[in-house]
Order: sequence, then structure tokens, then C-alpha cells
Amino acid sequence: MARVLIFGIDGATFDLVRPWAEQGKLPTLHRLMQEGAWGPLESTTPPMTSPAWPSFATGKYPGKHGVFDFVTARQGEFTVVNATTVDALTLWDILSAHGRHVGVMNVPVTYPPHAVNGFLISGLLSPTTAQVTYPPDLLKPYESELGRYRVMPAVQHKAGNEETLIRSLESLVDTRTRFADRLMRDHPWDFMMVHFLATDLAQHALWRHMDPAHPQYEPDNPFKDAILCIYQRVDRAMGKLLSHADRDTTVFVMSDHGFGPLHGVVNLNLLFLQEGLLYLKRDPLTQLRALLFRWGLTPGNVYDWLVRLNLQNITRRVSISTRNSVIGKFLSFDDVDWSRTTAYSMGHIGQIFVNLKGREPHGIVERGVEYERARERVIETLQTLTTPDGRPLLDRVIRKEEITAGRHADEGPDLHLVMDGYRHISFPLFATDGNLFSKQIRGDSGCHRPHGILIACGPHVRPGVQVEDARIVDLAPTTLHLMGHSIPGDMDGHVLTHMLTPDFVEAHPVRVEATESCEDQDALFLSKQEEAELRFRLKGLGYLG
Ligand SMILES: [Zn+2]
Repeated sequence: MARVLIFGIDGATFDLVRPWAEQGKLPTLHRLMQEGAWGPLESTTPPMTSPAWPSFATGKYPGKHGVFDFVTARQGEFTVVNATTVDALTLWDILSAHGRHVGVMNVPVTYPPHAVNGFLISGLLSPTTAQVTYPPDLLKPYESELGRYRVMPAVQHKAGNEETLIRSLESLVDTRTRFADRLMRDHPWDFMMVHFLATDLAQHALWRHMDPAHPQYEPDNPFKDAILCIYQRVDRAMGKLLSHADRDTTVFVMSDHGFGPLHGVVNLNLLFLQEGLLYLKRDPLTQLRALLFRWGLTPGNVYDWLVRLNLQNITRRVSISTRNSVIGKFLSFDDVDWSRTTAYSMGHIGQIFVNLKGREPHGIVERGVEYERARERVIETLQTLTTPDGRPLLDRVIRKEEITAGRHADEGPDLHLVMDGYRHISFPLFATDGNLFSKQIRGDSGCHRPHGILIACGPHVRPGVQVEDARIVDLAPTTLHLMGHSIPGDMDGHVLTHMLTPDFVEAHPVRVEATESCEDQDALFLSKQEEAELRFRLKGLGYLG
């Protein structure tokens, strides 16, 4: 019976994997590339973990599944997305319905875990105090022997804690591998998915230590091989877990987006403020205090929050006063006068929203001519900008209708910016500080790129094929096809037949169903504590201010 095993290496890029594999530093990946087919895998726009993994899982772009960012945002009011925000069936839902056994480990945006025909451990955006597995007692039999399972590393990156972060990421990979090994042995699976987050977190935090071309590179720094070491750990993990693959198993190694250097953050809302596209209320500081108070983050009680969220260890490395001085600098969307505002930036790469009537709570821009004029004004404003070292900032503007359609398409950003080859990104909320160009708040020196990796290896994969034009939405239909199932007709992805053997392609015509795979789920309301913790963790990841 055809089986599929997928390793998701978050943020993996061939810019690193290819030379390291060729140099023999990543033997498992090297072997899979030599024996199989490989090529770049195009991410979603923007290339972000939160829309990309649901697109991987559903075979659909955000216009159909409805997840555009870590949060669903309207004028700065937001809720953190979760699995119930994903408005489409996942690969593992569809396979479960066909009676196939599935195992899914730590794919982002799968919390809360729901019933599958097998097991599922949710991933990034799971509260640590919550029930993260289906079935609920999945990990119990192993914990006395293998230790406590972790979805996220024990520490978050902050300048100065590199050593601790690296140890924590290593332990995250090792623990996951030990559990995956046992779960794959003890549970039947036809489809198995193991996600590694450590590569993404390491590249965000440590890129500058590895890359001599990065403006903040320091020669002979102690962390120059740290990213390589994390990749090697994941490579060893895959080597070990591949012992569970039999001759009927197709193996995919893929990533949700690529990676590259990050030079800085652009506070686009400050530009819009200067140019009269956005206006502030009269009394911003009062509004700021109100916001911090509502989030429970006041100078007096930050430590209480850390204790409650079981994050005390952070305080050993980051003093409360440092944390507060960082938080306290922000203006927020609460300070915006929406009755006069045309456009705002909210999101982690370069997402621009028009203050659209009927969609935004206090929208003023009419659809049609006025909307187009607003988008043109934004683009004209951005075209004048240059990077601090004098290059044009704006490479490309992508209008929403160019990249996604579907019943959720209108909810997404109206414009997506590509700035300085992704070396500059927008600050996700209002602004980091009063400067148009600023440093990433957490000290990140790496960020996402639109092309991740795809390596395929197995009985029906043509070895040596250069995979071209593969997109992240193609993996769900390709997996279904390899496992002998038809493809839901509303998936955006296609079966990657050009990397499959001619015999297989001829004997197995792709079957596309007319039926829709949309699913209406009840929204899950997180508890106050869960939501607070998620916000706190998103802050740590640099997504929230
Ligand atoms: Zn990612």
C-alpha cells in the first residue's frame, strides 16, 4: 500500500542545503537529492509560516483557507489564528475520511488538535499549558522514558542569549526525533508528517553570524556554524526516521518558505503618517497606556505574567526594565484616527491594508475608483523610498487579486510589498520606534524568502529530475494522488506529474472530484490566559510589538 512520509524543515533554503549537501555536511539530504528529484518550492505571498502551512495542508491559497497571517487583523484589533480559522479540509482530514492512518507532528496552525484517523500533535501557535495532542493521552506512555515533549523551545531569542537558544533548539530537535521514532514504530501510518521548527528559529536569530556579506557579520564569532549544526541535527533525525520508510513509501522533504539575510525593518505607518495616508488621534500616550494595561503588561506586573505563563527563565536573561523600555516605546493602532486614514501597514513582510468601507470597522474608502486611487497613492509614496545605503527600497508591489481568489480573498491585505529583495520587511504592528528604518526588535538578522525546498524520493519519483515551478499548494494533491486518491476539485494545487515516473503517470491518471472540500467549523474561543500567552509568544517571535 502506497505510503507518504513528509519532513517539513521550516524555512529551509537550497542556498544553504545545496552547498552543504554537496560538501557532505548533510548526508541524508544529499542522498535523497541524489536518489530523487528536487527543486525550489514556491511559498505563499507573503512567504510566512502562518499562511504557508495551511496552504501546504489544504492545497489551497489563503483566499480559500482564510489564514493570511499569525493574526486575523482589522485596524490593529486582532485575534490569534488557530486550526479552526483554517476554512478547508487538510490532507490528514481527507486521508482520515478515506480510512488511511495518519500521523501529524507539530505542523504550525494545527492547534487545537482535532480527531484524525491516527494521531496529531499540534505545532507553532499552541499554548504550552494546553492539550496539544489527539488522542489526548498520546504521549503519556513515553514521557517517563523520553522526558517532557515540547512544541516550542524553552527560550526565545533575544540578543545575548544565543548559546542558550542553540542548546534549546538542539534539544527540541532531539526530543521530537525520539518521540517520532517511537510513535512511528507503535502506531500504524500510511501518511506521516514530522515538522522541525528549529531551522526557522535558528536562521531568524543567527543568520548574521554565518553570512560574511551581512552588515552585522563579525569574523571569527563563536556562532558561525550554529545554523549548520541545527541543519545537521535535523539531517541526522531524518536519517534515523527514514528507517521506518519501506519500499512503498514516497519521502518528501519540504519547507514552507526560504530564508535569507535581514538588514532592517521599515516602519511603513510612519511614512503613511508623514504623507497624509494615516492620521493619529490627539492623545497618543494615554491611548498607549490603555493598550498596555488591557494586555496586562504594566511595569508592575510583568513578572507576575512571566510566572503565570511559566516563562520565569526569561527574566534571568532579560531584565524587566529592558523589556518594558522596549514595549513602552510603541505607539499603537489605538492611536490611529480611522475617520481620516486611507491605508495602514500591518503584518510581518510588507502587507498593506486600505481602510476599506464595509470591511474595516471604521472604513472610509469606497470600493471601485476610490479604492484603486488609494492603492496608487500608497505605491507612489513607496516608490520614492531608498534603503539607508541608497538603493531603491521597493522591488515589487503585488495586488491581492494577482495571488489569490476565493471566498476569503477580500479579507487579506490589499497590497503586498517586496522590499530590497526581502532584506527589509515591515514592522508587523504600528512602529518599533520613531525612525522609518529600524532594526528588528528582537535582533533578528535573517528572514523569509519566497522559495523553500522540495526533495522527493520514492518508488514512483523519477530520479535526477529538476523540479521546476512546484508550489506549496501542489503537495497535498500530489500526496493524495500517490496514495491512490482523487483530488478535491477546489484545490489550487496540481499533481506534480513531471517528477513522477512515466509508468506511474500512465497507469494512474489524475482523478479530480467535482465536490468541494470546504468545511464549516465552529470557531474556537481561546481562554483569556491562552490568548495572553499566545500574544506573549508572538511578541517573542517578533510578530507583535
Ligand atoms: Zn516558516
